[in-house]
Amino acid sequence: MATDTATIYEAPAALLEELPVKACYVGPEAASRLATFLSERGVQRVLLVLDENTRTAGAHVLVPALESKNITITEFSYPAEIFEATDTEANKVSEAAAGMDAVIGLGAGTLSDLAKQAGTLNKIPCVLFPTAASMNGYTSGIVALKVRGLKRTQTCIPALGVFADPEVVSTAPQRMVAAGVADFLSKCSSNTDWQVSHHLRDVFFTDRPRKLVGDVQDRIFENAGAIGAGNPAAIGIAMEALLTSGFGMVIAGSSAPASGGEHLISHFIDMKHALEGIPNDLHGAQVGVATIYTLGLWEKILALKPDDIDVEACIAAQPTEAQIKEWVFEDWGDKVGAEVWPQWLEKQLDADGLRHEITLFKNRLSDIRKDLETDFRPPQKVSDCIAACGGPVTAEELYAPAEVFHHAKGRARYLRNRFTVLDLAAELGLS
Ligand SMILES: [Zn+2]
Repeated sequence: MATDTATIYEAPAALLEELPVKACYVGPEAASRLATFLSERGVQRVLLVLDENTRTAGAHVLVPALESKNITITEFSYPAEIFEATDTEANKVSEAAAGMDAVIGLGAGTLSDLAKQAGTLNKIPCVLFPTAASMNGYTSGIVALKVRGLKRTQTCIPALGVFADPEVVSTAPQRMVAAGVADFLSKCSSNTDWQVSHHLRDVFFTDRPRKLVGDVQDRIFENAGAIGAGNPAAIGIAMEALLTSGFGMVIAGSSAPASGGEHLISHFIDMKHALEGIPNDLHGAQVGVATIYTLGLWEKILALKPDDIDVEACIAAQPTEAQIKEWVFEDWGDKVGAEVWPQWLEKQLDADGLRHEITLFKNRLSDIRKDLETDFRPPQKVSDCIAACGGPVTAEELYAPAEVFHHAKGRARYLRNRFTVLDLAAELGLS
């Protein structure tokens, strides 16, 4: 078990050579390394994006480190991190960053996304000093911004450096850390979705993201109790897991290794939150409960035998296009529905397409099962780990309404053109 906070992770030089990120470090020297990194690149003026909570968590180590290198700091400060990253907020931060040499995000998901977007729009480096091991976006080239009420991921220039101090990160609320662990573990399902979409729909797949993550998943399972107890070194491992998972998305060129059907369920709740004001929960908290559900679907799918699958009966049981259209507009209304509907049309199959896909699945089932074993973990194992870290494992434990979560299990597949286990399970008549 992890006991001290020596350097926990440092991205190897060979990896950094092929990535846009040029430094990635988890350990006690994070603030001074960040300051040196900027100073060596001639940075003299920075915009520091933070809020009052993250100021308390990390400014006392970060600010003196920057000052010791004579870097001038201009703050862009929010009262508290309870808002959402929208394109309007990103534009405000971006305007403040004009004329700066770099932008620093001191915070978790929202503040990091705003800093990344401000760096991208101004074509200046962005570096991050995370305050919570709560999500895997620190090293990714993706920001989640709400545009006209619809939360969409869009590409950005990734942070040039990410420096995480375990002592700082471990001051975040336990629920945030558990959410980060759950977001990381969602890859047990999302990577499985991705690989099967390669088998069935010829989607590009590479196992490099999996290799990058290495053995950190095992260390997360081993250290779940210590993470739950707030041990900084163990929380540093959670941070390592999230950072390497972000690299995987950069290498894959999409969020596919870390975002499958379980993320669609979470997006469904977030969109209902935006449109109807229902409460929602932390991204990773929702994703974790959804992952336990989608791993349950995978468990049922992988237990099938080819002879169990009656292709024609499966096709006959599918809802009609008219029925699905009614559901989409019932869930989202005219305005958002008009943006959602084309997403579904891009991946929907007619009867012949379904016949081909289900038959292909049937014929390749033993190969698929073998391939998927690498990523798939039983839902109970993932649930036990999230619970040990202090996170929710049932819909009823989420701050979001349980009935919305349960409704999303059937309807979230219509939100996005990406093929996921939600589609495969529906095609096979499983829920
Ligand atoms: Zn996520």
